Amino acid sequence: MKRLAGKVALVTGAGRKNGIGAVCARRLASEGAAVVVTDISGNFAEFPDYKVGAGEELAAVANAIKKLGVEALPLFADVSSEESVSTLVQKAQENMGRIDILVNNAGGSPGPAPLTQFTLAAWEKTLAINLTGTFLCCREVVPLMIEQGGGKIINISSRAAQRGAIWMHAYSAAKAGILGLTRSMAVELAAFNICVNALCPGDIETDFKQWGLEVEARIKDKTVAELKEEIAGATPLGRLGRPEDVAAAVAFFASADSDYLTGEVLNITGGHGLGNATARPSF
Ligand code: NAD
Repeated sequence: MKRLAGKVALVTGAGRKNGIGAVCARRLASEGAAVVVTDISGNFAEFPDYKVGAGEELAAVANAIKKLGVEALPLFADVSSEESVSTLVQKAQENMGRIDILVNNAGGSPGPAPLTQFTLAAWEKTLAINLTGTFLCCREVVPLMIEQGGGKIINISSRAAQRGAIWMHAYSAAKAGILGLTRSMAVELAAFNICVNALCPGDIETDFKQWGLEVEARIKDKTVAELKEEIAGATPLGRLGRPEDVAAAVAFFASADSDYLTGEVLNITGGHGLGNATARPSF
């Protein structure tokens, strides 16, 4: 029997087919879960240069999941809107009957800038997507989980929460906020058999990472290829991460294999920063 057979998962920010959310959704489905995949439909009007939103890709993600032999439901929602999240969870429950697993993956960092030029609009938008979105989704889903007798919540934070990220002040702060939210929910919800854990991915190769590296390359007057080489060189496992690396951890925290874990924060970095990856021991 598959590890997640009979379970229903809701994964936010899952509409871009090579993004972490879509890959997580496929992994949960491959382990037997039915999945609600959700994403915002189009760009943010106030940040037209910032690529966000899934458009038609969301339906394609759901169709690919259905081919794995489980139910998949695509629903558009803006996680930073109270009304939108409420409608999302209501529709998910009406169609799927329950929600056992919530993966708060929607995120982003519009308007990166030096601190003194960082706009309030970019600050507020970034906190709204990453932190308020996580809070709102949890607030709407938790009553269902309590009624069902338990559940698993996995919050996608970032290593930026612990180390900072150049020009991404709001993003780092929001992702750090997610860790506080995770721990305080873990304490409160343990009594209801709901486990809440967070993941801190490092450098995972997605469109979002590519965009972040392009920003960093401009700031440091380097190429993206040089930056990738530096990252891989400082990573004991010798490469950047893949969405599949995050999805494997999400599946673990979604399953009964992690039943005694709550309030944990797991780094997914290939050991980045622990030591020099190129120094191979000779025996
Ligand atoms: P991505 O941009 O492909 O995925 C983020 C998704 O969130 C997008 O599909 C986007 O449309 C969606 N989204 C943004 N705002 C939304 C909103 N208001 N409502 C609903 N959906 C919204 O990037 P990714 O690299 O796959 O990142 C996924 C998650 O992992 C994000 O939370 C990101 O911060 C986090 N993360 C990524 C990396 C990395 O290196 N790629 C590292 C650490 C953390």
